[in-house]
Amino acid sequence: MQKTVLVIGASRGLGLGLAKQFSNEGWQVIATVRNSQQADALSQIPRVRVETLDMTDAASVEALARRLAGTQLDALFVNAGVAGPQNKPATQASEAEVGQLFFTNAVAPLRLAEHLLSLVDDKQGVVVFMSSILGSVETGPGMGMSLYGASKAALNHMTRTFVAELGETGLTVLSMHPGWVKTDMGGEQAPLDVETSARGMVEQVTKALGSGGHRYLDYQGDPLPW
Ligand code: NDP
Repeated sequence: MQKTVLVIGASRGLGLGLAKQFSNEGWQVIATVRNSQQADALSQIPRVRVETLDMTDAASVEALARRLAGTQLDALFVNAGVAGPQNKPATQASEAEVGQLFFTNAVAPLRLAEHLLSLVDDKQGVVVFMSSILGSVETGPGMGMSLYGASKAALNHMTRTFVAELGETGLTVLSMHPGWVKTDMGGEQAPLDVETSARGMVEQVTKALGSGGHRYLDYQGDPLPW
């Protein structure tokens, strides 16, 4: 039977690549953009329906949940994220910059997942949170982008709490590292292209359907240290 995925943050970069790859694999795709004028690339892809969402805006999240009521999702892929201030040492970022970074990367993904969880098949569905190797407390420090890494470590922490509170369920949760990928965020010097990363991540989601549990892994399926 055809599977359905909701990809959050699909206007460009990895989210757009994920929407393309899920579609290539025959999935029905619901893909979100913040602004409907960013939907051009998505609207060229077969089996893609575009929805608008700002993940940090509670009213926008509630409106999306209302529009999707009754939809059955096999996978929810919370991809959206921000890099935060890059042009200054972590300790010199303003309170507003730190607040926006941590709210967007660590809190908003979980609030969104809580709102949409009832749509995801609780026997064999998958919820993915886009993390990063930089969020590993064991290996991230010293790799640069420390505020961003800390926000992804916070996301991992929040996700483990989310999983602990799920109780008995067939749902699988993945904290995913996409590799270092050429996007606006990853930069031109990144070794991986979007297609390779997205292909790997879609393979991991497909393998995870029905497997249960929570894993922190990269796009090739290799486990990462928390
Ligand atoms: P980009 O900056 O290229 O794209 C980010 C996407 O997130 C855009 O679609 C953007 O939408 C969306 N977004 C940002 N904030 C919000 C919000 N408040 N509500 C809804 N959508 C939002 O980044 P990448 O594609 O590189 O990264 C995607 C994810 O992968 C992020 O979570 C990132 O942290 C993670 N990641 C990326 C790595 C890399 O090497 N590229 C490595 C490790 C992790 P808009 O166009 O409107 O801004």
